[in-house]
Amino acid sequence: MEISRIEIKTYKVPLSEPVEAFAAGVMKAFDLVVCQIFNDNNDSGIGYISVHENQGLAIASIIKNSFIPILLKKDPRLIELHWKNMWKATHYAGRGAPVSFAIAAVDVALWDLKGKLLKEPLWRILGGHDKNVLAYAGNIDLNFTIEKLLDGASQSLDDGFRSIKMRLGKEFLSEDLKRLDAMKNHLPENVKLMADANEAWRIDQAVHAFKEIEKFNLVWLEEPIKPDDFNGYAYLRSLGKIPIAAGENLHTLAEVNNLISVNGVDFLEPDLTTCGGITPFMKIAKLAEINNLPICSHGVHELHVHLLASCPNASYLEFHAWRIDEFIESPLIVNNGYTIAPDLPGHGINFDFDKLNQYILD
Ligand SMILES: [Mg+2]
Repeated sequence: MEISRIEIKTYKVPLSEPVEAFAAGVMKAFDLVVCQIFNDNNDSGIGYISVHENQGLAIASIIKNSFIPILLKKDPRLIELHWKNMWKATHYAGRGAPVSFAIAAVDVALWDLKGKLLKEPLWRILGGHDKNVLAYAGNIDLNFTIEKLLDGASQSLDDGFRSIKMRLGKEFLSEDLKRLDAMKNHLPENVKLMADANEAWRIDQAVHAFKEIEKFNLVWLEEPIKPDDFNGYAYLRSLGKIPIAAGENLHTLAEVNNLISVNGVDFLEPDLTTCGGITPFMKIAKLAEINNLPICSHGVHELHVHLLASCPNASYLEFHAWRIDEFIESPLIVNNGYTIAPDLPGHGINFDFDKLNQYILD
């Protein structure tokens, strides 16, 4: 068996309403890069990544120029080999994003193809643990008024979630505290709350914020400081105030290993699109397991549901604001706080390309 054809398409998908995070500012759209890999029997697998707008074409270009030539005519089932060769081909400009995004799109397509060839869903191929996956809604944003914030939380509860995340990082901590207070009072007792500061604070600000926020009993406080200040993470965690979540901005296995090694994280939440795909995500999940840490996820929930369903140390699946629900058959649904990994072969995601094509860039 060999890879006979690889097709790359890039889309700019508008968000139904703008969202804001401290680190990125206001976001009105995201780019979606879709990679379809065919074998010589015309079986195919689909991989995709989502990224901030105006970056998709650069990532697609890495796949087209650097990866397609080294993948054609090779056995698509040798995923570790292809991962190693893609890394090697781009390591000088890469060792992380955006190369990791490009590798991820290919890696997911190869895993999807493998699942389809084996007629098994990814979550069983990757280990098979529990297809019921704990989920939380991560779509409550910094630019929303308190009223809109609470309406969004109510909508998430109506949608079946029992855990909700809100963003922090307003100009003054007093504003964040007011929003947290309103949310805590709004949510029923049995609903869990997380918060995400999206790298908003310096260490001294974070130390102060942790003291003030501790009383809200958050499940976690995510990315309080810059993602690569590993010593800072270790210090904040040593205070023992609030569990810390991080991982979405780590682009290599080595970076994740460094954060774990300094005891800088409680809830590890890598993103397969930012760290190089399913292959490294599963290694991160095992690394977390060895270190007695839970594994969560960031972004692309319809892919991550398979990964968390395969892990004995699975914790929360994030339902991200960048959703592709309207472009796929059977988007995930949530019931009483859980969603279910599908039993279809591969990842089981079928795109409506006719609908998606209105947003095509290349
Ligand atoms: Mg985050």
